[in-house]
Amino acid sequence: MTAKFVRSTVSKYKFGAHMSGAGGVSNSVINAVSSGCNSFALFLKSPRKWISPQYTSEEIQKFKDNCVKYNYNPLTDILPHGQYFINLANPDPEKVEKSFESFLDDLNRCEQLGIGLYNLHPGSVLKGDHGIQLKQLASYLNKAIEKTNFVKILLENMAGTGNLVGSTLQDLHDVIEMIDDKSRIGVCIDTCHTFAAGYDISNKEAFDKFWKDFDEIVGFKYLAAIHLNDSKAPLGANRDLHERLGQGFLGLEVFRILAHYDHLREIPIVLETPYEKAEDYGPEIDLLEWLENIDDPTDKELLEKNEELQKIGTKSRKEQLSKFEAKEKAKAKIKTTRKRKAEKVEIGMDITSQLKSKKVKK
Ligand SMILES: [Zn+2]
Ligand SMILES: [Zn+2]
Repeated sequence: MTAKFVRSTVSKYKFGAHMSGAGGVSNSVINAVSSGCNSFALFLKSPRKWISPQYTSEEIQKFKDNCVKYNYNPLTDILPHGQYFINLANPDPEKVEKSFESFLDDLNRCEQLGIGLYNLHPGSVLKGDHGIQLKQLASYLNKAIEKTNFVKILLENMAGTGNLVGSTLQDLHDVIEMIDDKSRIGVCIDTCHTFAAGYDISNKEAFDKFWKDFDEIVGFKYLAAIHLNDSKAPLGANRDLHERLGQGFLGLEVFRILAHYDHLREIPIVLETPYEKAEDYGPEIDLLEWLENIDDPTDKELLEKNEELQKIGTKSRKEQLSKFEAKEKAKAKIKTTRKRKAEKVEIGMDITSQLKSKKVKK
């Protein structure tokens, strides 16, 4: 195998990306090393099917051998991603059982491979009661933890669409609070989701404020991974639209700040930016390792690089911004019509009560 990108041995951070495991999970390790990843993510089975064949013992051994050969510690450097349709907060009892089966199967696969971390979207309460469904989610997590031995489940924060759980820091706190074995639960913060959910992190002051809130509400001890994405949609748009670093509404400076943030050392920092092939992540990992060495936010090369990347994303940002503004306008319109209707009712009631009082006077 010829490595296209060389893994950094000097970076203080474990920058990596989501890798394909096509043709067998052991291939994800090879893809990771050839993209220069110091950590990586993968799907443990088809992300589109409920049931996939179990691993053969040969495949498990190959995966473990590759980890040793290419120097990845599966307990700390690999963060598999759960299937998107797993929803442990679903109020439908049949559907949630199906989700749980697939989720538990994922956790068992992690343990077969010796993987120590697993990323889960906390799901959606759909039409259920938020508090009740949060309790249900926690009880399924407790059950899964009981049935497995060591893998830590990371709840990913969400972009705030619909009734998604985990779009607020409070949700993450509330679920963790209900977990019996807290050594088996953690959090993965996705930079795109954070911003889309309305938490500004786009400048140093806002970034620091977010993490201060995070520490107060959730706690740094639970922070176990980062998903690194720029955002195609503006702040608070509640859209889960990943963008390549520097081309979205976050911009390159956020990632420079991040690449200097001490709390993010030692944990997987995984890119999920829109690329087709594993090798495409190589330059973006290089970019992060370059940012790590730029201490001055006014560095000339940095500003030039940011301008170059922002330029590429201009059209897309414009489109998303006008969509967002149109949606906000529509929302505001609904609000004013509702308000007017309410006022009319009030005025109407006034007239009736006046008439009534006149009647009484007679
Ligand atoms: Zn993510
Ligand atoms: Zn996302």
